[in-house]
Amino acid sequence: MPAPPISSRRDFLGAAGAWGASMMAGLASADSVPLAPPDKQPVDVAIPEKPEKTVGWAIVGLGKLALEEILPAFGRSRLSRVTALVSGHPDKAKKVADVYGVPESGIYNYETYDRLADNPDVDAIYIVLPNSMHAEYTIRGFQAKKHVLCEKPMAANVAECEAMIAAGREAERKLMIAYRLRYEPFNKKVIELCRSEELGPIQSFSASNCQVVEAPNIRLSGELAGGPLGDIGVYCLNAARYCLDAEPIEVSAFAHQPETDPRFREVPAAVSFAMKFPGGVLATCDCSFNASESRRYRVQCQKGFIDLENAFSYEGQILTVASDKRRAQLQIAPVDHFAAEMDHFSECILGGNEPRTPGEEGLKDMKVMAAIETAAKSGRVERVCS
Ligand code: NAD
Repeated sequence: MPAPPISSRRDFLGAAGAWGASMMAGLASADSVPLAPPDKQPVDVAIPEKPEKTVGWAIVGLGKLALEEILPAFGRSRLSRVTALVSGHPDKAKKVADVYGVPESGIYNYETYDRLADNPDVDAIYIVLPNSMHAEYTIRGFQAKKHVLCEKPMAANVAECEAMIAAGREAERKLMIAYRLRYEPFNKKVIELCRSEELGPIQSFSASNCQVVEAPNIRLSGELAGGPLGDIGVYCLNAARYCLDAEPIEVSAFAHQPETDPRFREVPAAVSFAMKFPGGVLATCDCSFNASESRRYRVQCQKGFIDLENAFSYEGQILTVASDKRRAQLQIAPVDHFAAEMDHFSECILGGNEPRTPGEEGLKDMKVMAAIETAAKSGRVERVCS
């Protein structure tokens, strides 16, 4: 049947339908299209929703990590806000409190630390102290009935880790170890690729984490539980465990402590270690306080490899996936590691869930590190205590 004749402009608009109508409207009002945003704001601006609840945090120890990374990250977190500071330096604490809007009543020192128990604005405590102090301040934090996020390495030894876990259980509060890489998208993507076995089963893993450490630095002190293994080697070890999704059975290791360099009077300059996993998969790792910055790992699979450059850095990860036939660099939007990690813990506190990296995760690494230290001394292959 032929289309009815269009007899007037009105009929034409009706026949053309909505699409035609809007085209005509656009033509008719071309010079009245608003150029500047009509409400004096972009029309597609995402206005943030205020979360129902947020978590108040106390930061314990205002050193380099706290001042340069953790405190600025609160600006990018959704569920976490800083409400207290603990420092042995009152002038510094006051200045920092002013910058971050922490009230004077939220400033504590190491003697008044336990009074955090009386501060209802503090739900979680972030321990950013030298490693030798992690256990004491975590346990006192639990006694104050707060949840605790503790920096890596979890503590100075296995017994301290076990005491921290027991204290958390007794207080019925959560303990998380600050393995920030488990909360950022590049390392998460590697884990996904490893689990998918798209490149075949994993055959071996290698990692290196090196930097130059000048004196004075807590990392060079034996008394403060410094040393390259706990400070940076732990990233290689933890990555081997999360990529392989398995626990090492045996380790061998070398440590180098040059007598001619006074920086290494108390801790080694470098540690290299090898780990044997169930089924025979091998991981080789090295860490150094006396080599230019290099932080990377590679997962070698049967039909290709996954390579993460700047794997352990705060930013700048480059993820390469290669098979026998092709090689690609994966583009992923980065996030602030510390904001992601703190928000994960806040979410666990608000939702009553277990964190992805609880105290038990830190304890597992500590047991392997104990075996590595023993192997470096004995010169023999050592079994990891389970
Ligand atoms: P830092 O030396 O810069 O800061 C240490 C803080 O502890 C300072 O505020 C210092 O005043 C305080 N402190 C209290 N008692 C002390 C004592 N007896 N001796 C020395 N300092 C004392 O160290 P940092 O680099 O901020 O490292 C702190 C913790 O954070 C360590 O456990 C370290 O392993 C960890 N860390 C983690 C990352 C990460 O990426 N997750 C990065 C760097 C450091």
